[in-house]
Formats: sequence, structure tokens, C-alpha cells
Amino acid sequence: MKAVVKTRRAKGMEFVERAAPQLGPRDVLIRVRYSSICGTDVHIFDWTRWARKRFTPPRILGHEFVGIVTEIGEEVTLVEVGDRVSAESHISCGYCYQCRNGYSEVCRNTKLLGVDHDGSFAGFLALPEHVLWKNDPNIPDEWATLQEPFGNAIDTVLAENISAKTILILGAGPIGLFATGIARACGASLVIVSDPNNYRLAIARKMGAHLTLNPKKKDIVQSVLKITENNGVDVVLEFSGNNQALNQGLNVITPGGRISILGIYEKRVTLDLNSDVIFKKIRMYGITGRKVFSTWYKTSHFLSSGLVDLNPIITHKFALKDCERGMQLMKGGKCGKVILTS
Ligand code: NAD
Ligand code: ZN
Repeated sequence: MKAVVKTRRAKGMEFVERAAPQLGPRDVLIRVRYSSICGTDVHIFDWTRWARKRFTPPRILGHEFVGIVTEIGEEVTLVEVGDRVSAESHISCGYCYQCRNGYSEVCRNTKLLGVDHDGSFAGFLALPEHVLWKNDPNIPDEWATLQEPFGNAIDTVLAENISAKTILILGAGPIGLFATGIARACGASLVIVSDPNNYRLAIARKMGAHLTLNPKKKDIVQSVLKITENNGVDVVLEFSGNNQALNQGLNVITPGGRISILGIYEKRVTLDLNSDVIFKKIRMYGITGRKVFSTWYKTSHFLSSGLVDLNPIITHKFALKDCERGMQLMKGGKCGKVILTS
């Protein structure tokens, strides 16, 4: 089969021939239909500091996908040949303290698909059955491949109730854009989105943002205070991974409000814990991965019911062999989600 492989400890990747994966008794072979490119794949492609520390070549990239089961190991009971599946990309151990307490998203032995285990930028991939998710027939393939990052957005938005609340979303990358749609679907009364990228702000408006702000052109703190009559917002959702944006968010949370943080920062962040967190008595949530599988059920309900429309976010589709074009596009930022056809 053909696959996109990180072959060397250097920038780039290759489109090469690889043997189809072998199955263990509890493994499932999946013929990939679509994969989507995540920021993590771009980090590995670009061989950033994080990738150099975390990633060991050779490895097939990709962890967001939809495909069809073509073969099952002799002990598999959860899926059958012909099922249309996606997967939780955090392959948890099931045995550690966290897994046994219902926090498998922070399993201490997690293997990441496309990082520690060969991924989905290929004709086929093999996975243990316990991470597979059978897709609702009402969800189109192009949306099914996006369920994994959509789940990140769900856990960030719904860490607490948001109906009739005012929201500031920092960062309109794909996950911030998903969050915009989710916040509107859940009845947020005011959704403000900030991003320096006008292309993405235009998508945020299609996803239902009431107001979009470009921090290169507008003072975010002043603008948010003005529109909220100096109250600030009830909820801040941080998807930018930018320290300055984080502080803008903390400045405009109304005392007693909450912030959920999914964005990942290049460096250690600075914040004014006394004024912006403690004396405002805000609640701060770190979000990682998804609740397995309760978040996947919510994802399925949001998407199969049409509560959130993902089409405005899917801006490009390429053949797998043109994966590098997709990576370059993502680096430039003139895109929403980029999908690859296997
Ligand atoms: P992305 O990089 O596509 O989006 C980030 C967006 O933030 C970009 O559109 C960028 O223009 C914008 N931005 C940059 N500076 C800004 C500023 N000062 N103010 C407002 N916006 C600014 O990323 P994504 O795929 O949408 O993911 C969102 C974030 O979540 C990333 O930081 C990613 O690393 C992180 N992430 C975390 C997890 C987790 O499990 N915690 C999982 C996936 C992604
Ligand atoms: Zn574990």
C-alpha cells in the first residue's frame, strides 16, 4: 500500500510503498477512505522542537480518519467486516490509575496514533478494537473524519453549561471554528471570535459568530468590554496557544466566570494569577483529548442531527499523494480543515 511516512529525523516526509499492517487477535484492519490533517501532523512534517523531542521515525502519519473494516482478528467482537469506523486516537492502556478511574484521556501509557503507532495517511491501518467508533450512517464521510478534533471542541465548550451565556473564542483554527458552531447550537447568547487571520474569521461568521475581531486591528479587551457593557464575558475558550491572547481572555472574563484552555503554548506562559484568576474567582479548566467514549456519543449526536454544519470548515480536499500541499496550506493558514483521500 502507499503511505505518507516520516522516514528521517529531518524536515519533510515521503509518499512511499509500505507493507499492509499485520493483525493481532484483538486488532482490526481498516481500509481508509478519508484522513484529515491536524496541526500535530504539521509539527511532525516541519520537525519542530516538539516533534524532535516526541517523535521517532519511521512512522506513518495521521490520526483523524474514516474507513471500512476489511478484516478482524479472531477475538474481535465489537465490529464486523464492512462497518464504517473512526477511532479515538489516544490508545489508552486500560490498566493504569487514570484509566481505572475513568480518565483514560490522561492515561499514563497512552500511545498516540500517527506518533507512537502507524497512522491513517495510508491505504490501510490496523488498530485494537477498543479504540474504534462505529459511525452513525447519517454522518457523511467528510464529517466522520473530523470527529476526533470536533470532540476536543466539545469538551472545551461544554466543560460547563453555556446556554444564554456570553462567550469569547480565542483562535479560529479548525477547533475554534468547531467550538463556534457548538456554542451557537447550545444557545450561547453572544459568541465573539478573535483571530489575526481574516480568512478564518470569515468562516467563523459562517459558523454563527455574532462578532469577529482581528487582534492586529482592534484592541480585544476594549472591544469585548464595550459590547458587554463593561461586564466582560461569562466564558472564554482558548484555542490559540498564544500567551497574549490568553491574557486578553483572562482580562475580560467576568468575575465568577470560567475559562477552558485547549491551546498548546510553545513556551511557559505568564499570567497574573492574583488579579485575573484568584480575586476574580474564575474557574480554569485544562482540556486534553476527549472523554472516551462519552464525548464521541455527543459528537455523533451533534453531527447526525445537523445541529452543527461542518461544510464551511472543510475548505480543501487532496489526494493522499498530495499531502505535502495540504501541509503547506495549513502552515499558510488560508484554509479551514484539509481532507486527504486514500
Ligand atoms: P490552529 O493552529 O489551526 O489554530 C490556532 C489559531 O489561533 C490560528 O488560526 C491562529 O491564527 C490563531 N491565533 C494566533 N495568535 C492569536 C492571537 N493572538 N489571538 C487570537 N488567535 C490567534 O490549531 P487548531 O487545530 O484549531 O487547534 C487549536 C489549539 O489547540 C492549538 O494550539 C493546538 O495545538 C491545540 N490542541 C490541543 C489539543 C489537546 O488535546 N489539548 C488537541 C488538539 C489541538
Ligand atoms: Zn492507562
